[in-house]
Amino acid sequence: MKRILITGALGQIGSELTLKLRDIYGADNVIATDIKKNDSEAAQSGPFEVVDVTDLKRMGEVAQKHNIDTVLHLAALLSATAEAKPVFAWNLNMGGLLNALETAREVNAQFFTPSSIGAFGPSTPKDHTPQDTIMRPTTMYGVNKVAGELLSDYYYHKFGVDTRGLRFPGLISYVALPGGGTTDYAVEIYYEAIKNGKYTSYIDKGTFMDMMYMPDALNAIIDLMEADPNKLVHRNSFNVTAMSFDPEEISASIAKYIPGFKLSYNVDPARQKIAESWPNSIDPSAAKEEWDFKVEYDLDKMTKDMIEKLRPKLEMKISS
Ligand code: NAD
Repeated sequence: MKRILITGALGQIGSELTLKLRDIYGADNVIATDIKKNDSEAAQSGPFEVVDVTDLKRMGEVAQKHNIDTVLHLAALLSATAEAKPVFAWNLNMGGLLNALETAREVNAQFFTPSSIGAFGPSTPKDHTPQDTIMRPTTMYGVNKVAGELLSDYYYHKFGVDTRGLRFPGLISYVALPGGGTTDYAVEIYYEAIKNGKYTSYIDKGTFMDMMYMPDALNAIIDLMEADPNKLVHRNSFNVTAMSFDPEEISASIAKYIPGFKLSYNVDPARQKIAESWPNSIDPSAAKEEWDFKVEYDLDKMTKDMIEKLRPKLEMKISS
């Protein structure tokens, strides 16, 4: 990776990935793009271009102009929002991906896009879900992710584009808010714990899902993209995870740092249904074997860091 274009760069992952890549590869070598600009650090700390990923011509022009050799395609509609607007989701998620792959092909760039645990479905083995297994998702988001994995493999086999991907679990972070996923509760719970000492979960007790802290997710993207291609048996996409918990377990972890924290439930049937169709815990051993995937944060270490980082941020907001 030398000249990197990121789509959807102002979202939950992109806001942090852009800054980390600018630190490593040089600010001028990381071109952040999104459907509109804002005043975030990711938009202001280096080159930024407005790119709507449904506009192939514009994406190609920006890639040519900046002499891009790597495309990191993040723009997408996430699981809960996609389920509410399925046709819009198909057009954005599949149309955007096809355009990003075409752009990578045109400029001969390496390519990354995230898949998700949402690519699995109710008939997938639920525990230690293998890398290669049944994938019959029942959500529009899942259908998009499976089709996206296949399309990315197709571009590798057919056109030789160096495509790579990760099946991310729910990502937890304190910089940008999540954008409409089923695992968003695991971020909101920290905000509410710090602000009010309590949280009402829309996901039910006993519903286990995989999760990962954002610093580990960013390292996984970089490690995969820098991995020796000769060692990759799989490409699109690798199971990665750091932990699996239900609302009770994350609540118990928060209570260690915020004594008296109270969890209650008001289950949202739509998001609960999506969560129940996903695995309880996936097996990342292919990622470990093929490119040495590793994580630094378990649940308690993440909770401690989230609370330490979020508390001053939220206190600043309350007093301003
Ligand atoms: P997000 O919703 O936070 O950000 C998406 C970004 O895309 C936003 O900044 C939005 O403005 C932009 N966007 C929307 N429509 C666009 C368009 N037409 N053109 C250009 N930009 C557009 O999403 P995220 O959490 O950063 O996720 C990025 C990728 O990672 C997605 O493919 C998502 O499915 C995947 N993923 C995320 C998670 C997670 O927990 N965050 C988990 C698994 C997979």
